[in-house]
Amino acid sequence: MTENGGKHETNGRLKTRTWILLFGVFAVLCAAAILWMNGFSKGSVAEIVQNGVTVRRIDLSRVTAAETFTVEDGEGGYNVITVEPGRIAVSDANCRDRVCVHYGWLSKSRIPILCIPHKLMIRISGSDGGPDAVSY
Ligand SMILES: [Zn+2]
Repeated sequence: MTENGGKHETNGRLKTRTWILLFGVFAVLCAAAILWMNGFSKGSVAEIVQNGVTVRRIDLSRVTAAETFTVEDGEGGYNVITVEPGRIAVSDANCRDRVCVHYGWLSKSRIPILCIPHKLMIRISGSDGGPDAVSY
């Protein structure tokens, strides 16, 4: 009986440690989520960067109707970009991987749409021209 009790205690302690660990991970995730959300609320200006140069800035919160335009790289490559209220996407492109087309809609995510073959990037930056708007 005493042996059984001992085993029980060890299990109990292990469980407590696991819970503390899980709680710690949860707390870190929460903090990360809060930071992430703060980034979200900064603004929704889509920046179209080609060859490291911003070619167009669109305030997605001010878009009222869908708009489509084409960005060309001057070497025969093009990306058709569609803008809708609050979101932007590459709807067509003649790059070889078409990763940019498959990305889908970019709204408030901080992960930019990349078209590596065309050196094109679409990202969301803050509308207030804060540190986020400063390029790398
Ligand atoms: Zn592409």
